[in-house]
Parts: sequence; C-alpha cells; structure tokens
Amino acid sequence: MKTIIRKIDNLYSDHKFIEEAAGILQRGGLVAFPTETVYGLGANGLSAEACRKIYEAKGRPGDNPLILHIGDIEGLYEIAEEITPTAKKIIDKFWPGPLTMIFKKRPCVPDNVTGGLDTVGVRFPSNEIARELIRLAKVPVAAPSANSSGKPSPTRASHVQFDLDGKIDMILDGGAADFGLESTIVDATGGKAVILRPGAVTKEMLEGLLGYAEIDPAVLKKPDKNIIPKAPGMKYTHYSPKASVILVKGEMGKVVEEINRRAKEKQRDGLKIGVLATDETKALYKADIVLSAGSRNDEVSIGANLFKILRKFDYLDADIVFSEVFSEKGEGLAIMNRLKKAAGYNYIEV
Ligand code: AMP
Ligand code: MG
Repeated sequence: MKTIIRKIDNLYSDHKFIEEAAGILQRGGLVAFPTETVYGLGANGLSAEACRKIYEAKGRPGDNPLILHIGDIEGLYEIAEEITPTAKKIIDKFWPGPLTMIFKKRPCVPDNVTGGLDTVGVRFPSNEIARELIRLAKVPVAAPSANSSGKPSPTRASHVQFDLDGKIDMILDGGAADFGLESTIVDATGGKAVILRPGAVTKEMLEGLLGYAEIDPAVLKKPDKNIIPKAPGMKYTHYSPKASVILVKGEMGKVVEEINRRAKEKQRDGLKIGVLATDETKALYKADIVLSAGSRNDEVSIGANLFKILRKFDYLDADIVFSEVFSEKGEGLAIMNRLKKAAGYNYIEV
C-alpha cells in the first residue's frame, strides 16, 4: 500500500486534506493524525474490521485496548454510560485536552476496541486538526499511538512514516506534538479518581480539582504478578529504543562521574554509548552521543522531547544509553514512568 502524506499548515486552506482523511476513515481505512499528546493511528471506532487493521499495522497485542476519540462532547454519550459525578467534574475541567477517561461502554463499541473489557477509554483532544478530522468522519475514532508496537510513541509525522510507511493509508502531518507524552488515563468508574497512566494532566492538577487523586500502584512500581496495571497496555515494557537504557540516580556531580566512567569502560568493549542529559549537564559528558532533553527548569519541554530523543539514539545506533533521572512531581511523574519503562526498570544508584 502507498501511504499518502499530507501536510496541514493551515486548517482552512488545507481543509481538503482533512476531508480526504475523513473519507478514508469512513471507508474503513487507517489515518495517522496529530494530537496534542502524540500522533494517533485512527480508524472508525465503531467498525471491528477497521479496528482490526490498527492492531495489524502496529503489531499490537490484542489485549491492549484502543482509546476512542471524540470531536465534540455529545460523542461521549453514544459510546459511554454511567458517567459518575467525579468523571463529569474531571471532564468539565480538562476536556478537550490530554486526558483519557474510562467509562462503562455501550454495546455499539466493538469488543476488539476494548480488548474484551466492559469499559472504554475516551478522549476529547484539543488539537484542531484531530477534532476537525473526527467531526468530519462522523464516528468516534479509535486511535492508539501511531508507532510500531514497542517503539517510543511518535511525536512527529516523520516518526510515523519511519514505523508505518506502506502499512497505513494516510499520514496527516501537523507538525510536532505539543506535550509529546501519551494522555493521562483516569478511571473514575468506581466513584474515586484513579490515575492509570500519568501524563500532562498531573496528579497535582487533579488534586487541585478534587482534593485528592489516587495512583494505580503499577504506575510507581515495576509491574509483577501482584501488581497488574489496570490499563492493560501499561504492562508492556515499551517506549524502548533498541539500545539498553540504564537510569542513573543520585547527586548530580556523582551521576556525571559515574556515567563517564561506565561510558569509557563500555567504549573499550567496542560499544557505542549514548547519554540522555539536560541542558545543565550536557557539556560535562564524554560519550559517543550526548543528547539533551532540555532544561530541568522546563519539564514540559523535557516531556515533549523525550520520545524524539529516544528515537534519535536508535537512529544513531547507540548500544547503551545512560540517562539522568527527574523528580516525580508534576509532569515529572509521566516522564519518569516512560523512562523507567524504556529502561525496563534498570537502575544504578550512586
Ligand atoms: P495508546 O493509545 O497507544 O497510548 O494506548 C492506549 C492505552 O489506554 C493503553 O495503555 C490501554 O491499556 C489503555 N486503555 C484503553 N482502554 C482502556 C480501558 N477500558 N481500561 C483501562 N485502560 C485502557
Ligand atoms: Mg501506544
């Protein structure tokens, strides 16, 4: 299959491309599109056959459910029921935006969207291209991240093309994603708000609204047979580049020293070493590839750069990547959650 790529510079003058994409969705095809979190791989979310193609193109395990995206709030009531007062309060505050909510599903939602669960994840994105596409398609759009399963999520159209060229019908190129980390997932079906996956809508923001917010234990700890994530997709060690990623934790001066020492040692073994650094420390490292995720004073931009950088280490053929760690406050919780997964929970403490 030839993948059509359309660049959207302007919502009005390039509207014809969004119409073209909506037509593909209506005919059961696959369209990758930008959102404020990461690029999504969209299909008609009410068609089991169209959704099957998502799993096939991504190589996604069948038990990892898809999120349904709506273009306006009315769309929610077609696919979800029993919207608890807590859920209502949260969506009133944070939708449209980088937040997925779990609801009891209506029968029209196909089983392969929910991985057989009786709940469905729903998101109302704020990205204008995404919203216009969904509105024109006139159906909820099932869209997981538009990467090959296991790879870091795509934050640019070029990432999608690298993973899925020839496997999907179209890519809408709307530039770099604003947040660059997948949506926060919150389950309030039981009346209490529980974060199943951290993202740009932070625990602190939910606490500001509700006075509390719980976190699924699997977000903080390595999942094992006693700690099974409530979001099925969180059990996979994904976001990983080809290189083995090792997190190095401790006082900053010692971290730099330890990474340089280990880098030198591994280079002697003939390995290509990467370092995931920050603007503050970048100049201090001696390795083959040193990339800064941004300044520690701006964690939103670190979140936005993270997957791009993990992909770049791949592209530059790093064998091992040593990474600094971040505080788990605010959006740092989401950043560290993805980094820990990328590292397969591989830590060194100095
Ligand atoms: P992605 O869109 O690729 O970020 O993946 C979707 C994420 O949403 C995965 O981690 C899924 O496990 C999670 N998810 C989707 N539907 C549900 C649901 N009904 N209950 C819990 N988690 C869900
Ligand atoms: Mg994904």
